[in-house]
Amino acid sequence: MEESKPFEKEKRGKAVFKEEIGFLLVHLAPLLAFWTGATWFDWTLCISLYFIRMFFVTGGYHRYFSHSTYKTSRFFQFLIAFAAETSLQKGVLHWAANHRVHHRHSDTPKDPHSKKIYGFWYSHIGWIVGPDYKETKFNLIKDFAKFPELLWLNKHHLVPPTVLMLAVFFVGGYVNASSAGVEITLMTIMSHGLSSLIVGFFLSTVILLHGTFSINSLMHMFGKKRYESNDESKNNLILALITLGEGWHNNHHYYQSTARQGFYWWEIDITYYGLKILSWLGLIWDLKPVPRHIKDSRTKEEAKKLKLEYAKEDKA
Ligand SMILES: [Zn+2]
Ligand SMILES: [Zn+2]
Repeated sequence: MEESKPFEKEKRGKAVFKEEIGFLLVHLAPLLAFWTGATWFDWTLCISLYFIRMFFVTGGYHRYFSHSTYKTSRFFQFLIAFAAETSLQKGVLHWAANHRVHHRHSDTPKDPHSKKIYGFWYSHIGWIVGPDYKETKFNLIKDFAKFPELLWLNKHHLVPPTVLMLAVFFVGGYVNASSAGVEITLMTIMSHGLSSLIVGFFLSTVILLHGTFSINSLMHMFGKKRYESNDESKNNLILALITLGEGWHNNHHYYQSTARQGFYWWEIDITYYGLKILSWLGLIWDLKPVPRHIKDSRTKEEAKKLKLEYAKEDKA
């Protein structure tokens, strides 16, 4: 890139404590597990809700709403949005619009969460709790903002996590009370559901929040860089496993238009395998692949050359 002058940082506001009390309480809630204890079922909920919701964070918020890397029906699109929002990461339009800004201005002062410009903590959590990215940038997400049901979900983004929270509370309470062998009444369900709520919902949600945030912070720090993507994005297997494929972040920054982030078979990308299964079921389709000239190149200039070369080869 041509710019060589030093970056001029944007002024970013600090978090307003009273507006972030809810966010703080979500983080403190898991500590109640010291009083409630936890059953095997609560831990099962915690782990499965982490991975199921991470799938919708990456396959929904990210690969569908931010980058449109596959197609689906209007109904299934709504379900994906609903499931993604159970992660407590706000509206799909809000999430995806901010993410589009990240790609447009990656690791420059206009990047909402650049570790290079604003430091680790700001890139991890500062921009989330700060006042600068609270509004949905509707002009950047016109392709999805035209659906009234998505606008509704974007505005009422606490509805999906509340529905999940209640489901965890009552289902967990029922299962825990049954395995404890007590008589099933509304009271026993509610008293046995408390540990499910704390561990199955809140602990799982906190780990999920930070798993997602690490994509913005750690993935611009640790790992290898295969492609010249004009930013500090990296590829990292461990982070790819934790985030179900998002760890191939340098691949993704180099070429955002594919449903796949692991470009090679050994780059484990569980979200992509999940999307493949959904496509076999006919629920989604037109998963965009990684073009050969992208995979084989290392810079955009090289990619252009290879594209022409491969096109000639294919004709021959
Ligand atoms: Zn992206
Ligand atoms: Zn990034």
